[in-house]
Amino acid sequence: MSDAPRILVTNDDGYSAEGISALMEALDGLGELWLVAPDGEQSAVSHALTLDRPLRVRKVGERRFAVNGTPTDCVTLGISNLLGDRPPDLVVSGINRGGNMGVDVHYSGTVSAAFEGVILGYPAIAVSQVAGEGMTWEASAALARELAAWVLEHGLPPSTLLNANVPLGPPRGLKLTRLGVRRYTEGVVEQRDPRGRRIYWIGGGEPVWEAIPGTDFHEVGAGFISVTPLHLDMTGLEVLDQLEDLKPSFLDHPNGRGGAS
Ligand code: MN
Repeated sequence: MSDAPRILVTNDDGYSAEGISALMEALDGLGELWLVAPDGEQSAVSHALTLDRPLRVRKVGERRFAVNGTPTDCVTLGISNLLGDRPPDLVVSGINRGGNMGVDVHYSGTVSAAFEGVILGYPAIAVSQVAGEGMTWEASAALARELAAWVLEHGLPPSTLLNANVPLGPPRGLKLTRLGVRRYTEGVVEQRDPRGRRIYWIGGGEPVWEAIPGTDFHEVGAGFISVTPLHLDMTGLEVLDQLEDLKPSFLDHPNGRGGAS
């Protein structure tokens, strides 16, 4: 196995979640699999990195580790310490229980873990399965294997990952997509606790998405698998020109790009 590609597998649902087991099974034979995942639920922790307490690693099997930290901690720790002197050829995050589409990629620990791989210089994939009645891991597991094999063969440009989402039920096909747009809805539920004090619960409302063809949410809603390439560089390039005349009066030197003026 020493020449086999190394695949670092992680998630944000925890190392014992069904989705990561399905993923490990699906990737079996593609390379040397290393599982480094949180020891519990870490969904929606985004790209959080633990800086204020020690991290502990529990070996839960051969090349399998549970970490009392975030998905980003897992990728960082996996690559810097646990994998030893050979880095991964690919980072795969998932399979998440629940879709990670549109702006939700910014909250997602699943996608952030893949981004951490990208930041450290390795190609990465995030795979999510829309949750609901009748959900299975079959299609998402098969997709994860195909995507992993494809990326191992073709590679990905720097700073780029693939974010895949699988619909409920047998997929009608695969669409290459862009991120969808969520319409604002009542996302926060306000109630009173038994002592009459105000409490808030985020995420109580059903998200509503703009029906834009070619976006991940739209196509997944129509029964297709979506694959969206995501780029780490969030620079709003098209706005740079518009900002040309931004010259704060308290600065005595002219504004310039990239520090040069
Ligand atoms: Mn999750």
